[in-house]
Amino acid sequence: MGKSSEKLKEYHEKRKSGKSGEPMGDKSSDVADNAFSFQKHDASTLHYDFRLACEGVLKSWSVPKGPSTDPEEKRLAIQTEDHPMDYIDFEGVIPEGEYGAGTVLLWEKGIYEFIPNKEGQSLSEAIDSGHFKVRLDGEKISGAWAMTRINEDKKEWLLVKMDDDEADARRNPVSTEPKSVKSHKTIEEIADEQD
Ligand code: MN
Repeated sequence: MGKSSEKLKEYHEKRKSGKSGEPMGDKSSDVADNAFSFQKHDASTLHYDFRLACEGVLKSWSVPKGPSTDPEEKRLAIQTEDHPMDYIDFEGVIPEGEYGAGTVLLWEKGIYEFIPNKEGQSLSEAIDSGHFKVRLDGEKISGAWAMTRINEDKKEWLLVKMDDDEADARRNPVSTEPKSVKSHKTIEEIADEQD
């Protein structure tokens, strides 16, 4: 039991029944230590879970509207419990009655690069201090993105596209590219499969 099992206490606490069908982080993982993903999650309210591998766990935020490639669009991101590394490409249906019940679609995956800050912090230190930038290299979105905490008590952050070559106010990948990067299915198809 290492540091990551301590970080995953809240994750496991919320899934005590063992019936959620989600990865439990009990297997050794070959997920890259610079992996990221967005999971479209049709739970009680639809959102996109942004996950960033960081020191053995996935730092996680729930983004109600998903990422926008328009630098003028600030997207609310609520930090949630750290997830196990092998959650990064999870797709499926979390049964009714379980925490987060609903369909999960792997909307985006790729690798990221932490953009060093003036303070010389690590990503984990930068997250703790409430601001960081990463360069994403995914299948649908890429370029530099900034995350800034706006309310520590409510765990509220803003996810914003930086104004670079990959910024594009005319694109709207959340609505124009809804399918899974894993199964190439729609969220309805993933939901139907489980019936
Ligand atoms: Mn979620």
